[in-house]
Amino acid sequence: SKVSGRNTAILYQPEWQDEQRKKSELIQALRFAVQNNELFLHYQPKYHLAKLSINGVEALVRWQSKDFGLVSPATFIPLAEETGLIDDIGLFVLKQACIDCKDWLAKGYDMPVSVNLSAAQLSSGMLPEHVLAILTETQLAPRYLELEITESMLMQDQKAIDSQISTLSKQGINFAIDDFGTGYSNLHYLSRFQAATLKIDQSFVKKLSTSSQHYNLVKGIIVLAKTLGLTTVAEGVEDQNILNILSRLDCDSAQGFLLSKPVQLSALYSLLQEKTAS
Ligand code: C2E
Ligand code: CA
Ligand code: CA
Ligand code: CA
Repeated sequence: SKVSGRNTAILYQPEWQDEQRKKSELIQALRFAVQNNELFLHYQPKYHLAKLSINGVEALVRWQSKDFGLVSPATFIPLAEETGLIDDIGLFVLKQACIDCKDWLAKGYDMPVSVNLSAAQLSSGMLPEHVLAILTETQLAPRYLELEITESMLMQDQKAIDSQISTLSKQGINFAIDDFGTGYSNLHYLSRFQAATLKIDQSFVKKLSTSSQHYNLVKGIIVLAKTLGLTTVAEGVEDQNILNILSRLDCDSAQGFLLSKPVQLSALYSLLQEKTAS
């Protein structure tokens, strides 16, 4: 307490004060990052399970901070959402992903790019306008852009979200439901919402070979998705055994460290070359 003097007060400084200080330093650094090109993209390929060829890539944002080193998006995306910095970050990611996609199309690799959206990007109501402006600017055809949204995002302001999604769908942009199974799964929106892809969350995929409950769940999800005409992607595939099981369950595509970690664009080109050479 204060009466016991300065040193004691510091000793008993609650932990959350340290956390608050670290957090505001991170926010300041993130603001700097957006303006000073510390953000860049990695791409993680998706593999078609039957052909084992790359049929798409997911853009994942990276932050190399001069003060904090490499900061995970799991840390800075929530901070960006809290502070409104997500608007600029989201636009940066979208534009860079479209520029890079345009580049691999020009090199003869005919595959789309998937971009993660955050709830905050849908809350302004400006998303369709922003996305369509970027497509025009980069001259990328809408069918090459897929937007990944999570179940929990769909649970928010339904009308406002549905109208933005339908505007973009009508223009030919595709949607994927990300982390499927982890939100408050509501089968209603699977019919309401015109997604093309369903991404099965890694927490289910990882337990496929050790838990019959998870095996049955994934099997059921794949059957359900197929019935609804959705393409299935399994996330977080780390071993061959799980890849084999997914293949038997007729899952369409897979993503994971076994196949490839997220890599920079030049390394993606090496992977694409290997695949076409063999
Ligand atoms: P996510 O969209 O579910 O992305 C998949 C995450 O799993 C990525 O982490 C990826 O590196 C990781 N991953 C892929 N394969 C494996 C695997 O086999 N094993 C394991 N253990 N992990 C694997 P990352 O890049 O750290 O991103 C974390 C989350 O941050 C993403 O989860 C996404 O929610 C968010 N995020 C990343 N980039 C963006 C972005 O540009 N915008 C927004 N709004 N969110 C982003
Ligand atoms: Ca994702
Ligand atoms: Ca995911
Ligand atoms: Ca996730």
